[in-house]
Amino acid sequence: MTVPPGSTIGIVGGGQLGRMLAAAAAQIGYKCHVYAPDEAPPAAQLASSFTRGRFGDEAALARFGASVDVATYEFENIAAGPLAALCAEAPLFPPRRALEIAQDRLLEKEFVASLGGRPARYAAVDDLPGLQSALEEIGAPAILKTRRFGYDGKGQARIAQAGDATAAWDAVRGAPSILEAFVEFSAEFSILLCGSANGETVLWDSPRNAHQAGILRHCEIPAGPDLAGAIAEAEALSRRIAEALGHVGMLCLEFFASEDGAVFNEMAPRVHNSGHWTIEGAVTSQFENHIRAICGLPLGSTALAARRVRMDNLIGDEVLGWRDLLADPAAHLHLYGKGEPSPGRKMGHVTRLFF
Ligand code: AMP
Repeated sequence: MTVPPGSTIGIVGGGQLGRMLAAAAAQIGYKCHVYAPDEAPPAAQLASSFTRGRFGDEAALARFGASVDVATYEFENIAAGPLAALCAEAPLFPPRRALEIAQDRLLEKEFVASLGGRPARYAAVDDLPGLQSALEEIGAPAILKTRRFGYDGKGQARIAQAGDATAAWDAVRGAPSILEAFVEFSAEFSILLCGSANGETVLWDSPRNAHQAGILRHCEIPAGPDLAGAIAEAEALSRRIAEALGHVGMLCLEFFASEDGAVFNEMAPRVHNSGHWTIEGAVTSQFENHIRAICGLPLGSTALAARRVRMDNLIGDEVLGWRDLLADPAAHLHLYGKGEPSPGRKMGHVTRLFF
């Protein structure tokens, strides 16, 4: 199947990822139709059409599907059930199964473990007594994470000692969760992979990622020789995962590098913040290859465009420094058109290339 330039791509979700997808799609001649619940989402500013609708509204999703030639999503906390109404009207990539697995931390860890991956030790938790017995099994320190609807460190509570269990259970509001052992890692990195409908799979250089309070701060590429072994192991696992899913489009997998190698953290079947550097730092960006993949086009080269690349997120008030960033000749500034900054909100990013 080829969806040729000139066609309309549907994007479910209206954030900065959809905005950067729409920009990449426009560059190769596609129009985008964005579907999101917000009044004026960042992606709609760059799309040729916008439908405001709830992610759970099957009738609206079906109408949206009928108005596009192919559809994708940029946000994984969309119930996979209602998306079936969209799938009946238009092809949807990445496959719905990838979304179903990635949006439930328990299914995700079981799936990855079944393919030989190694998540941190974990136990499912459905109530407070269950948390107490999981803590006996896993030990402290540990992290309690909701199975669904978590992002940027939200829906998580750290447990330093067994006595913190009640407070952690309150913090996740009693939602079905998993308890995860705290991983002693030397670094974090991600695998950025794109699969095409004809079985082609490409990977970019793995970024070394630094997080603060659960939010990505910056990425450095290349990740450094100390991570080479863990990255090779993670790449092999990621290829097996993509193959098992019949994955078409971007898949990002996050790992911890520990003494025993690559520990799987989580995956997202979509373009990802740790791949924003590819816009200027690689021959073809994650956004363009995602569009190419879902439209059945050949994928572009993922080679590095510089010796070293660094991407810094602009979080909250940091965005107010845009004037100084524009004065830096090495800085590529991206602002997401989000209006007022608030603490923890991703407002933009800046990428620097070193030759
Ligand atoms: P997540 O939303 O699960 O990706 O978590 C956000 C960040 O919290 C990760 O990138 C890590 O920096 C930290 N984190 C999450 N889970 C663990 C863990 N089991 N051990 C140590 N740090 C963790």
